[in-house]
Amino acid sequence: MRKHIDPVCGKRINRNKAHIVVTYGRQEYYLCCPVCQREFEKDPRKYVKNVKR
Ligand SMILES: [Zn+2]
Repeated sequence: MRKHIDPVCGKRINRNKAHIVVTYGRQEYYLCCPVCQREFEKDPRKYVKNVKR
């Protein structure tokens, strides 16, 4: 099973445990909490780059 990583805090998240799933640039990003969600929405590109290594 694929694990998802919260791009803001770097935590691994199970699909059913995510606070929210946001779609950005055709990709889904799993965020663990409202704080990470807000950070992500403030500047999504910053975090998207972190994920694609
Ligand atoms: Zn997080």
